[in-house]
Amino acid sequence: MKLLMHTCCAPCSVYCIDSLRKEGIEPTIYWFNPNIHPYTEYKARKNCLKEYTKAIGIEAIFEENYGLDEFCKNVVNDLKNRCTTYCYKVRMEQTVKYAKEHGYDSFTTTLLVSPYQQHEALKELCEKLAKKYEIEFVYRDFRIGFREGQAKARELGLYMQKYCGCIFSEESRYNCHNSAKPELPAGYEHPSRTNIQVKRIENKDDYIDLLLEADPSKEMISKYLNDSDVYGLKVDEEIVSLAVILPISRNTLELKNLVTKEEHRNKGYSKKLLKSLCGNYKQKYSKMIVGTTENNIPFYVKQGFDQYEKTIKNFFIDNYEEEIWDGDLHCTDLIYYLKDLKKK
Ligand code: SF4
Repeated sequence: MKLLMHTCCAPCSVYCIDSLRKEGIEPTIYWFNPNIHPYTEYKARKNCLKEYTKAIGIEAIFEENYGLDEFCKNVVNDLKNRCTTYCYKVRMEQTVKYAKEHGYDSFTTTLLVSPYQQHEALKELCEKLAKKYEIEFVYRDFRIGFREGQAKARELGLYMQKYCGCIFSEESRYNCHNSAKPELPAGYEHPSRTNIQVKRIENKDDYIDLLLEADPSKEMISKYLNDSDVYGLKVDEEIVSLAVILPISRNTLELKNLVTKEEHRNKGYSKKLLKSLCGNYKQKYSKMIVGTTENNIPFYVKQGFDQYEKTIKNFFIDNYEEEIWDGDLHCTDLIYYLKDLKKK
């Protein structure tokens, strides 16, 4: 399937791309959004999508024209119905035309992820266009993943917009005499919130298989596990991440192991667990150190472990029987970074 996906912004694209990729579909991203105002906002959303698509290695096409004048001329006489009478139409029709002219056999849109859009009207419009232009409309009710996608977008540090796009929606958002927040459509409810808790783990040995995914030596784990506190992040009924924390002095802790089950990675769970633990431990301790491989330094620096401490040369060679690989990296040295728990 050659699918062109109209894309309104990076955060909305996250769940749509992830879920299509899970189905084995690789969409091409198509940016055409003359409805985003003012120009600085248009540029911020477009540039963020450019960076994101580059980072995840997905093909993306950007129509660079900024269409404020044309957009305003076309909606000014019927502002109340502007979404359905013009805004959806102009974006979807352009997407379909581009798809037809460039050999795509189907199209869809990330607008289907937002519970704040007029989902049924949008779906109906796309079905009509599919018939008119004889192209398949790939319909998915992406709204089920709205929260998940937005959470991941926040974790990734993507630019998160505060209003739908046009200058009129910006007014609705900020002018409190108008409606302060977009309303959810009647009858639509967000999928129920996931229940996330941090839990102290007493039966530590039951989790050895998961700990081995981050530290592949039972012998090494046994050196620190008994004296450490182990905490798990429980999502609904399942422990998805673990952190093992060893007090090493009166005011310093060492993070010995941080791991998330493979199927739950890239959802920000390790970060959430670590953040919560650092918040609790700072009552009693002032520093936390972590020894890590080169590949994981950016992750830890982002979590506040921003002070380089020391390097233990050939640690992995000297202490592990087998060669340790982290992706393409042959691990040799253990590099320590420190987080000041008291720092705001
Ligand atoms: S509110 Fe959103 S969908 Fe409606 S016209 Fe403005 S930008 Fe388009």
